[in-house]
Amino acid sequence: MIKGRVYIISGPSGSGKDTVMKKVFEREPNLAFSISSITRGMRPGEVEGEKYNFISRERFEEMIANDELLEHNVFVGNYYGTPKAPVLKCIENGQDMLIEVDVNGAVQIREKMPEVVSIFVLPPSLEVLKKRLTGRGTDAQEVIDKRLNEALREIACAKDYDYIVVNDEVNNAADRIMAIIRAEHAKTERSIHSYMELIDEN
Ligand code: 5GP
Repeated sequence: MIKGRVYIISGPSGSGKDTVMKKVFEREPNLAFSISSITRGMRPGEVEGEKYNFISRERFEEMIANDELLEHNVFVGNYYGTPKAPVLKCIENGQDMLIEVDVNGAVQIREKMPEVVSIFVLPPSLEVLKKRLTGRGTDAQEVIDKRLNEALREIACAKDYDYIVVNDEVNNAADRIMAIIRAEHAKTERSIHSYMELIDEN
């Protein structure tokens, strides 16, 4: 069986990548999503087990010690990590998986899985980014400032990704990500079996 592909997607908080990802999952229902384990508190509207598993620091540190994580990072004082087992199971079963990570997590995953396809979602401008970070209304000013600094640091790493997608409009950005996924599926290494069958028939 052909293994599934792993896509990593990063983008600063405020880039609108969550909305873009939602659109991508609507259009590509076979794509699995990696649920991260994190130690920050739940925001209003967030649901346990949907995007994140909200766990204690003790449990997170136990996961690190047991080598249960593909990558992990501390972001604005909280741990964020990608559990390893679900990713490996998914790709072994031939299913593609999308992992959302920050830039540090992306470096760690690329080291372990050089074949991953990496996508960076950029906000259309700094103005829009600032507006989105302030407008969310769920974080204190100090947290917003930290997130903005973090965003600028992350944007500087966009050049290390295979693809950069500007989120000027959510449907356009989702279209571009779908185009990347389709192009990856058409790559020779993945289509070689069909090619060989065709040649054998001859
Ligand atoms: P937020 O608290 O806004 O949901 O996420 C903060 C940052 O953590 C975002 O840049 C997001 O992409 C990143 N993030 C989400 N899940 C993971 C993860 O599993 N690992 C890492 N390293 N970063 C993550």
